Amino acid sequence: MDFSMQDIKFLPGVGPKKAVLFAAELGIRSVEDLLRHYPYKYVDRSRFYYLHEVAENMPFIQVKGQILKFEKIGEGHTMRLTAIFTDGKSTIELVWFKGIKYVLEKFKTGIDYVVFGKPNPFNGRYNIVHPEIELVSQLPPADQMGLQPFYNTTEKMKTGFLISKTIQKIIFPLLKSLQSGIPETLPAYILKRYALMNLTDSLINVHNPKNTHSLNKARQRLKFEELFYIQLSILLQSKYREQNFSGFIFAQIGQFFNSFYKEFLPFELTGAQKRVLREIRNDVGSGKQMNRLLQGDVGSGKTLVALMAMLMAIDNGFQAALMAPTEILANQHYDTIKELLGDLGVNIALLTGSTSKKMREILHEQLRNGELNILIGTHALIEENVQFKNLGFVVIDEQHRFGVEQRSKLWKKNTNPPHILVMTATPIPRTLAMTLYGDLSVSVIDELPPGRKPIQTYHYYQSKRQSINQFISKQVQAGRQIYIVYPLINESEKMDLQDLENGYNYIQETFPNYKVSKIHGKLKPREKDYQMQKFVSGEYQIMVATTVIEVGVNVPNASVMIIENAERFGLSQLHQLRGRVGRGAEQSFCILLTGFKLAAETRKRMEIMVRTNDGFEISEADLQLRGPGDLEGTMQSGLPFELKIANLVQDVKMLEIARKTAMEILDEDARLEKAENIILYKQLQKMKTNKLNWGVIS
Ligand code: ADP
Ligand code: MG
Repeated sequence: MDFSMQDIKFLPGVGPKKAVLFAAELGIRSVEDLLRHYPYKYVDRSRFYYLHEVAENMPFIQVKGQILKFEKIGEGHTMRLTAIFTDGKSTIELVWFKGIKYVLEKFKTGIDYVVFGKPNPFNGRYNIVHPEIELVSQLPPADQMGLQPFYNTTEKMKTGFLISKTIQKIIFPLLKSLQSGIPETLPAYILKRYALMNLTDSLINVHNPKNTHSLNKARQRLKFEELFYIQLSILLQSKYREQNFSGFIFAQIGQFFNSFYKEFLPFELTGAQKRVLREIRNDVGSGKQMNRLLQGDVGSGKTLVALMAMLMAIDNGFQAALMAPTEILANQHYDTIKELLGDLGVNIALLTGSTSKKMREILHEQLRNGELNILIGTHALIEENVQFKNLGFVVIDEQHRFGVEQRSKLWKKNTNPPHILVMTATPIPRTLAMTLYGDLSVSVIDELPPGRKPIQTYHYYQSKRQSINQFISKQVQAGRQIYIVYPLINESEKMDLQDLENGYNYIQETFPNYKVSKIHGKLKPREKDYQMQKFVSGEYQIMVATTVIEVGVNVPNASVMIIENAERFGLSQLHQLRGRVGRGAEQSFCILLTGFKLAAETRKRMEIMVRTNDGFEISEADLQLRGPGDLEGTMQSGLPFELKIANLVQDVKMLEIARKTAMEILDEDARLEKAENIILYKQLQKMKTNKLNWGVIS
């Protein structure tokens, strides 16, 4: 058996207990798994710093010197230990909150140590919390003090004495046995074309870099390998799908579509809406199953496009479904579409968690016998007992709320999978879309209906509240309505947050003549609907709410969105919230209220919001600021893998090359049968039996 497949249990320094921890915490079982647990950072230990050089935002540094004295401060739980450490010229404080007894036993004053850690500014000085300390006399020889790797561990691993250092000690000896070579995973022609380091050298250098140059070469190769196999796997999936499922063909544009277009449409379609409809029309006529992502900013008129696409399905004898992430939104879609369709003769129904059992039974029957043309609902409509006579087209609104699994359930609702149109106002950056979905086609509505004025956004500190109140008054007197959004309700008082309840009371006291509705996630659906309805009908002027209103709600007369504690929201959430206004002909405003002290990153977020209304720009900025792992909804939208070394922000170029390469290979050798590609086939098989598990929908 290949050495890399061996169980780590038998490696020196591992043993059964640590092996269990490795498996449970990081999914590491084989030697290869371990070797693929790449360091997340490296620290340059080749140079010693002086304390007078310490500055803000330094990485880990090492300093030579002695401890002058220890001091215990406080008692019991809050006790901490400090030590004054000197490099002979200046001093710095070392701090421990845990393991105090151990530290006092192990380290003494007046001995030469190397102290190692990250300096933090504290009370106008610097300290190092929980530093690593080594005896100068026991330092490894200078040539081994290069780049020290650091490995991710978990809390449980730390309590089991499995820290970064331990991992390093287990991996180092392995690298020696690697010299004889580990099976290469990339074909020779690819290595050659891109001048990539081979696998053996890459693994050796990623764990124990000779120097920065070889580290970079190693990382480059491992990143390429990672991105390339993801692309190869996705593209292979979509080829398989193309070959094994055919798509329903909507051959004609018929009665429903035409009458709706000519007689029912209340306004002219925008150019962008027309273009997207043509794109959809091409797809559904092609014989291939459509997977199309429709991106369009809030208010760009996606619902109408979805409706007209559904009419195409009905004209060809199919049923259609529209799935929304929340009940409020499903209700609203139902109302809007019902009104738009008027007496066109299309049968539509609503199915949500609140639909009564009796009503459900009727619906189920009408779906099965084909009486119902369009079903609108929440995820209730993917439940197993909802069966269609002939489902041909599915619209998923605000897709970031739905996972891959939920989507794949839709596939099973008919003999062939229905065409799928996924709509979102939170654009997925192109790089992410490329990684997530191999063959998802993308349509963009990049034009707002005419007459809309761009929303004006302002960032104010909470101290401006008086003038904002005057502004609210003015707007309400002019007949407008106001949203005020809070990040949470009844958070602990300590957090110094003015929560929804306080906000509601404050608004009622400040504006005794206005009616205020209050909406949050804990309300019963009936109460929520009641409060919502009061606002939608215009009877109430102000709505105080949590983010339950984030998605899709349409009240064209509401022209002001005030977001309290805006620092607590992510960019895409802020953008979604802002999209609740600017839906009518009046000038709309979005006001971001924050405290005065803001982290640099938060300040950037506010600046971006003030500067642009462009959802794409915002989502790119979001990706830059937060990284893809954190990107709102990414996890829910089902990033089906974890990137170990590549980074979707930094490695965009490489991702594109990897994708292009994978495409070229599959174009020439779709089943990876050529001798030089066998290696690819084998590696994919291996990935399949390992962790990577691609759903039908990629
Ligand atoms: P979103 O893309 O956010 O889902 P909607 O579909 O809710 O946007 O549309 C927002 C508003 O714009 C709705 O009131 C809708 O009736 C209106 N609308 C859509 N298309 C047009 C158009 N071509 N001309 C004028 N108004 C439109
Ligand atoms: Mg919408």
